[in-house]
Amino acid sequence: MEFSRLTLQAAAAGIRGGEFSVTELVSACLAAIKEKDGEIRAYLDVFDDVLAEAQRADIEISKSRNLETSGLPPLFGVPVAVKDNILIAGRRCTAGSAMLAGYVASYDATVVEKLRAQGAVIIGKTNMDEFAMGSSTEHSAFGATRNPRDLGRVPGGSSGGSAAAVAGGLATAALGSDTGGSIRQPAALCGIVGMKPTYGAVSRHGLIAMASSLDQIGPMTRTVADARVLYDAIAGPDAFDATAVKEESRIKNQGPGMKDLRIGVPKEYFGAGLDSDVAAAVKKSLEKIEAAGARIEEITLPHSEYALPAYYIIVPSEVSANLARFDGIRYGGIRNQESGIRDLYDMYAKTRAAGFGSEVKRRVMLGAYALSAGYYDAYYLQAQRVRRLIRDDFARAFEKVDVIAGPTTPTPAFMLGERSADPLQMYLADIYTVAVNLAGLPALSMPAGEVTRDGADLPVGLQLIAPWFAEAKLFAAAEEIELLLNAL
Ligand code: GLN
Repeated sequence: MEFSRLTLQAAAAGIRGGEFSVTELVSACLAAIKEKDGEIRAYLDVFDDVLAEAQRADIEISKSRNLETSGLPPLFGVPVAVKDNILIAGRRCTAGSAMLAGYVASYDATVVEKLRAQGAVIIGKTNMDEFAMGSSTEHSAFGATRNPRDLGRVPGGSSGGSAAAVAGGLATAALGSDTGGSIRQPAALCGIVGMKPTYGAVSRHGLIAMASSLDQIGPMTRTVADARVLYDAIAGPDAFDATAVKEESRIKNQGPGMKDLRIGVPKEYFGAGLDSDVAAAVKKSLEKIEAAGARIEEITLPHSEYALPAYYIIVPSEVSANLARFDGIRYGGIRNQESGIRDLYDMYAKTRAAGFGSEVKRRVMLGAYALSAGYYDAYYLQAQRVRRLIRDDFARAFEKVDVIAGPTTPTPAFMLGERSADPLQMYLADIYTVAVNLAGLPALSMPAGEVTRDGADLPVGLQLIAPWFAEAKLFAAAEEIELLLNAL
């Protein structure tokens, strides 16, 4: 049994049907981590009591087998990895930052409670760019994660650890978080499926906030169907998050089948900066989809070029407010206690200077500036106006099409170190993903062909974007497309 490639659905079915035990599945996962994670470095923490948990699950099965295994919850026994900005009670949680080294969470995030209620076995915490700021997982205070497809390349970011764990066979599925592309972009670069829910579809309670008006937690898996199962497990309203909306407001309609599906392809997503091989792979996939009966039409999202500049005003502004709480007093980790400390302010400043990495500092400073009196109107307010225009572009497009399709990223996985010295180059990796967060839409990235670089076959991601709360439609369309692309 090749456990490391099992889909979530096959893993859950195998356990339920008695083909293998939870202990076997979890042990295989731990063995793969032992063998490969020294190089990949997807995990910051692998829980040492996870085998005991698996054994308890097997005892539960043996009891229920006499009755009815179909009564077991859908994720029962499935090994899931969790990004290290999501709190698990009693476990270390660092968000990839030295600021939180040694911090232990005091409660479970709502998504973690839900995973447990569904029977998932959480095996560990995955590496990430510090406080989710980055596109390569090189901005982790604990070292970079590598792309399992080519160890010289980045896995993407900021959920690079989760993507590498799933792609490398070190977990059956994982959770990531996406503020401007951090689920979809690493999914694309590692060759897996990554899905960002509609803003408000999944509770953010227990997610360490980066930019609260954009952050969402979502699934990272081997197939679209797996992403749907994991999404269903974590979605829903939550009394602890006022932005997590009620079930009634969701759109249940799956939309048309492939034959009647109208797919809009924004002309702005095929402009300057897009690697020609990536463009060719995405176009080839779109041709196959068209040949299967879908209607593909060119659309326009006229304010696309302003998405990245608006994002990099709004995000630093929210970051500067959200990260003010990390002061050396309340959380974790480090506190500067040198003998020369003058007063409380001096301690805050020294702790923050030592605890934050350079990308975090850059954003805290830019954000404080953008929000300051006299500049607020020129920067933050202006960016919010642009955000509205971007949202309206999408609303107009969805009057004509069911979903929007294009590349997830402008290039395949880049080399470690290639962009770390130039923040702008790093920001450009998210050029096709940030607008989705600004608008609050659901979107996913799925594998759509490969390109060859220096002898390595590197995955390309196809991004599908759906209207607000039309997750059912997004998954239905993506599942059909996946079947089609896999068949050819
Ligand atoms: N790379 C983008 C950023 O650095 C997106 C990060 C994310 O989605 N968390 O802001």
